Amino acid sequence: MGLLSEGSPLTWEETKKYADHVRKHGIIQFLNIYQKLKDRQGDTLKWGDEVEYMLVTFDHEAKTAKLNLDGVKYLKVLEEKEVNNPDDHPALWRPEYAAYMLEGTPAKPYGGQMAHFNMVEASMKQRREEVRKLITENDSPLSVTSFPRLGCPNFTTPSYQPTITEAGVSRSLYFPDEAINGTHPRFKTLTRNIRSRKGEKIAINIPIFKDKNTPSPFLENFDVDIDGQGAKASKPDHIYMDAMGFGMGNSCLQVTFQACNIREARHLYDQLAPLCPILLALSAASPLYKGYVSDIDCRWNIIAASVDCRTKEERGLEPLKNDRYVIPKSRYDSIDSYISEEGDRYNDIDLVFDEDICQHLMNSGIDRLLARHIAHLFIRDPVSLFSEKINLDDENDTDHFENIQSTNWQTMRFKPPPANSPIGWRVEFRPSEVQLTDFENAAYVVFVVLLTRVILSFKLNFLMPISKVDYNMQEAQKRDAVGQCKFYFRKDLRTCYANDPQCNNVNIHDECALMSIDTIINGGEVDGVEFPGVIPLIKDYLQTVEVDVDTSCTIVQYLELISRRASGKLITMAKWIRQFVSQHPDYKQDSVVSEQINYDLMVACDKITKGELEAPELMFTPVPKTREDLPPLIKKMEEKYAAEEKKRAEQGAAETS
Ligand code: ADP
Ligand code: MG
Ligand code: MG
Repeated sequence: MGLLSEGSPLTWEETKKYADHVRKHGIIQFLNIYQKLKDRQGDTLKWGDEVEYMLVTFDHEAKTAKLNLDGVKYLKVLEEKEVNNPDDHPALWRPEYAAYMLEGTPAKPYGGQMAHFNMVEASMKQRREEVRKLITENDSPLSVTSFPRLGCPNFTTPSYQPTITEAGVSRSLYFPDEAINGTHPRFKTLTRNIRSRKGEKIAINIPIFKDKNTPSPFLENFDVDIDGQGAKASKPDHIYMDAMGFGMGNSCLQVTFQACNIREARHLYDQLAPLCPILLALSAASPLYKGYVSDIDCRWNIIAASVDCRTKEERGLEPLKNDRYVIPKSRYDSIDSYISEEGDRYNDIDLVFDEDICQHLMNSGIDRLLARHIAHLFIRDPVSLFSEKINLDDENDTDHFENIQSTNWQTMRFKPPPANSPIGWRVEFRPSEVQLTDFENAAYVVFVVLLTRVILSFKLNFLMPISKVDYNMQEAQKRDAVGQCKFYFRKDLRTCYANDPQCNNVNIHDECALMSIDTIINGGEVDGVEFPGVIPLIKDYLQTVEVDVDTSCTIVQYLELISRRASGKLITMAKWIRQFVSQHPDYKQDSVVSEQINYDLMVACDKITKGELEAPELMFTPVPKTREDLPPLIKKMEEKYAAEEKKRAEQGAAETS
């Protein structure tokens, strides 16, 4: 996750003194990248996924499932393979926030051939196998979005008591500091500094699912709360959580892809933003928190609140005195502005941005939209800084830019090329919840990347007022949003860009209508007019490209999964978990997820992951055609492209040196 600078971490008080320094040099660093690479052209599609796993340990006698804090030790072994064999290792492994987490990405990004879509699932399988080879038979790398009893007594192995005094990093009543990944200083530093900057503990309140026997009002117990922060911050009828780990200790599924140039990256960033809430609802997988059944299906608001470092003034609770802005959202949230020319007319929410930075960027030749985007990210302070990394070479370093950029955890991320690397302009799609099986995760990833191809090939337009995307983000998290909620969506996907004179007369709000996810994904009638649906459009696109038989067979199954989830023929993971809990003999209709339920649920999840248990309401049994390698002919072509690309890069380097 984000920038992993090494060194001696500074406290918030120290970091704060350097905030302007980091911002100033971050902007210089961004300008240097921009000036060097703004005209970079001709990059091919490259893309990759990121899957986060939790290492779960089962005790089949005691009937417990716990999070194993040795995840970081295994990670070290996995990372060593990469160091020892940089050109030949099965996957890339990266640390994540919690000691029980592992993040895996493909060894190298997939490419632009259709056959690459057929390699995703095989790569994901290979990753899980790689972890399995290291761990004991009682452990399992599970891709669950939220661990049901995260924060309950003894939820980790080994077990630790939280440190609630001033000495604690989180000062959580529930989440012990030992569960934070301690192998890299970034994670604890972020935790402490975010809390210090906020001026109080993290406070996350999410509505409890009120069942027949749930106490009313439902109130948390604060007997051990030494300073009364918990009792003050918790709300009746809500599950209260008080640490960064409750959000950043959840898992997700992300996709990053490279665009052919900066323009295309900005275009795709905007086009995919309205799809974020839709994918969030379709991937909903996390109804249980801290041993309770909640009334929401997704992690998003929890993770947003878990790193919300805004002060009272910035949250608008006190008049501005020491701080500069009232900021409507956490630094983890949905995007606030479109950055392509076409997107500009849909920028209908007030954007908070640093006027001086914006002016500086514009004076340096950056257009207003991109300048505002960067100046918006830069309203935030750095919350993690290392003493060795304060004075940098702005020509060759991008740490200060990345410091601010990588702690703006938004639904979409626009990624400039890293300094001195062959990588081009990229975009990251970040809302999706992670699914249990490799098949499902591959399906969601392939769906998103295919969608980018369709948007570009058919010149589709998904833009809508950004205020409506925000509305959709909240709807997406509601219980059974796929079945129950309606989402604003653009009615006519084939028309209307800013430079089309006909559009200027149309009210941007009239261009969209409320639709079900089924209609959005599978098509239907909207206001008496036929709406094509995203999957039929993808299928139309697939008719226009050459696809080998195996890849085609795989893609058909992926689209079928998404289509059935959208129509309700298959249910989301969140709904499946709810059903599992409500039908469990130990469940007392009181919203409590007992140790026994947690164990049985995790055992079931493990079996589904391994293909040992069918869950026909959740998914059909896939017939895998996925493969670890490209078919020989396509591989040959790929190698030729790669050699040409390398030559071009070398020529480019020779010209600039
Ligand atoms: P993050 O910013 O989320 O830490 P990284 O920069 O480590 O992400 O990249 C993560 C993803 O980007 C991986 O899935 C990886 O396969 C993919 N990726 C790496 N290089 C490229 C590239 N040149 N173009 C597109 N995606 C890439
Ligand atoms: Mg991650
Ligand atoms: Mg990422």
